Amino acid sequence: MNSHNRKQIALISVHGDPAVDIGGEEAGGQNVYVRQVGEALAQLGWEVDMFTRQADANQPRLVAHQPHCRTIRLTAGPETFIPRQEIFEHCDSFVEEVMKWGQQQERKYALIHTNYWLSAWVGLQLRRRLSFPMVHTYHSLGAVKYQSVKEPPQTATRRLEIEKACLETADCIVATSPQEKEYLRSLVSSRGNIEIIPCGTDINHFGSVSYQQAREKLGFSPEEKIIYYVGRFDPRKGIETLVRAVHQSKLRGKVPMRLIIAGAYTPGQSDGDEKERISQIVQELGLSDITEFPGRISDENLPVYFAAADVCVVPSHYEPFGLVPIEAMASGTPVVGSAVGGLNFTVVSEETGLLVPPKDEQAFAEAIDRILSDSQWRNQLGENARKRMENEFSWEGVASQLSDLYGRMIEQSKG
Ligand code: UDP
Repeated sequence: MNSHNRKQIALISVHGDPAVDIGGEEAGGQNVYVRQVGEALAQLGWEVDMFTRQADANQPRLVAHQPHCRTIRLTAGPETFIPRQEIFEHCDSFVEEVMKWGQQQERKYALIHTNYWLSAWVGLQLRRRLSFPMVHTYHSLGAVKYQSVKEPPQTATRRLEIEKACLETADCIVATSPQEKEYLRSLVSSRGNIEIIPCGTDINHFGSVSYQQAREKLGFSPEEKIIYYVGRFDPRKGIETLVRAVHQSKLRGKVPMRLIIAGAYTPGQSDGDEKERISQIVQELGLSDITEFPGRISDENLPVYFAAADVCVVPSHYEPFGLVPIEAMASGTPVVGSAVGGLNFTVVSEETGLLVPPKDEQAFAEAIDRILSDSQWRNQLGENARKRMENEFSWEGVASQLSDLYGRMIEQSKG
C-alpha cells in the first residue's frame, strides 16, 4: 500500500517523545507505548505522524522510524527540557504548530489519538477546529495519583478538569486495564465511551535470551540470586520498599544475593535526588556490598538483565499500567509487585508471580524469599508468565485492536 491509499492518523504525545532514549527522568512507558503503537499501526496500513514537543534544540525535527511512521518535533515554548507540570502553558502554541504542519504538508488526519492529559487538551482544541474523531489514553490519572500524594501540584485542578472533559467528550477512551476503567467510572465521570485495550510488549525482543546465556553474559554465577528493579527513580516507584524488603529477607547472608537497581538518573534533577536518597538507605542498612546501580539499561541489554534475574520486583505505590512487569514476564521472569492499578491485571498472583500490598516491606520480603527458595516453582511461574504475555500482550495484538477501534470511530463519525 502506498502513502496515497493509507489513512493518515496523528498520535499526539506532547511531553513523551517517542523517538528519545528511554529510561530517564521523564521518559518511560508513554514514550514506549506511542512509538510501538505507531510502528505497529504503520505495519497495519496506516500513515502515522507522531507529534511531540522539541525538548532539545540539537535534536532533529523529524525522525523516520520506518516507512509511514515518523516523529515530528514541534516548537512549543523553549527548546529545552521542561518538567511536565510546567508544560501546559505552551500547549496552545503546540496546537497552532500542529495546525500549521497539517496545512504545509497537506495532511488530512482521519483520526487523532492523544496521550496524557496535556495532549488531551491539545486534542480537544484540534478536534473543535478540524472535527475528526479523537481517541485518548490517559497513561496516568490525576484522580488516582493525587490520592497518594501529600501536596498535589498547582496544575492539579486544571488536570482534573481536563481529564473529566476528555472522558465525557472524546469519541473513545482507551483504558489499559479493567482497573483503570473502574477508576474512570468511580472517580472521574459516569459519562463517555471507554474500551479496554492493554499496553503491549515486544515478545520477540523480550524472551530472546535464556536464563543461562544472560547470566554468563553479565558474569553472574549460577548460585547467585538476582533481585532486579528497573525503572525511573521516582518516590512513587517504591524503591525504598524493595531495599527494606531485601534487608528483611531471611535468605540474606545464607545464599549469595545481588540487588540490582537499574535506571537512569541525573545528579541535580529529581531522579538524581531520589537515587541519592535510595543509596543512603542502602548504606544505612549495610546492603552496599550486594547492591548495584548500573544506570540506564539500553534497549539491547534490557532483555538480558530481565532474563538473568531470578525475580523482578515492581514495588510501585501507584502504577497505571506498568510496562516493566510485562517485559519481565515476557522474558520468563516472575514478578513480585504491589497489588495496585495495572499490576492487578497483568500479574496473576501465584501463577506468574506474587502480588502484595504496596509499601509492605515484610510482605515483599516474604514473597521474594518464597520465589528465591524454590527454583523449580520460580521456573514454572516464569513459563506461565511468558505464555500469558504471548497470548495477550504483544504489540501486534494491541495495535490490531486499536486499528479496529479507529476504523469503527472513523465510520461512526461519517454517520
Ligand atoms: N526503561 C529502559 N531503561 C531503563 C529504565 C527503564 O528502557 O534504564 C524502560 C522500561 O523497560 C519500560 C519503560 O522504560 O519500557 C518504563 O515504563 P513503565 O510503564 O514501567 O514505567 P513509567 O516510566 O511509565 O512509570
